[in-house]
Amino acid sequence: MRVLILDLDGTLWDHEDASRLVPPFTVNGNCVIDDYGEELHLFPGVREFLEWASERFVISIASWNVEDLVRPILEALEIWGYFRHPKIEGHPNKADMIRRTLEQLEIEGYEISEVIYVDDREIHLRDIRRSVPNVKFIQMWVDVKSFEELKRKLEGL
Ligand SMILES: [Mg+2]
Repeated sequence: MRVLILDLDGTLWDHEDASRLVPPFTVNGNCVIDDYGEELHLFPGVREFLEWASERFVISIASWNVEDLVRPILEALEIWGYFRHPKIEGHPNKADMIRRTLEQLEIEGYEISEVIYVDDREIHLRDIRRSVPNVKFIQMWVDVKSFEELKRKLEGL
């Protein structure tokens, strides 16, 4: 089984710190509006991408955020259900988040053949490579410019 680990801020949506949004949220399509009128938008094609990827990968999350604040945003957008053992935690140690997710999947009996990590920033990559040496990294908006292109890239891996 191939595992796809996604970042959130700046990768799935345009907001740089989703933990700053204040509930209650209003959802309008791909836009979440918080109590103060601040907006967060899913990037174009994210929903279609998740649907496509869910048939080919186990999808999870490694995000430096506060789960109690950000899970409701994912739920409001009705995409929370795509993710297995998502990690949304208040520290930048994504290597540890990913390692624990992979462990949980292995305990469940998954044989992991490949791990692909998608993030708009590469700052966590060196640490991640230490715990998952064969991880394949795709930098969103640098290596690919859209979710359609990400899909094609993953098909070619
Ligand atoms: Mg990010």
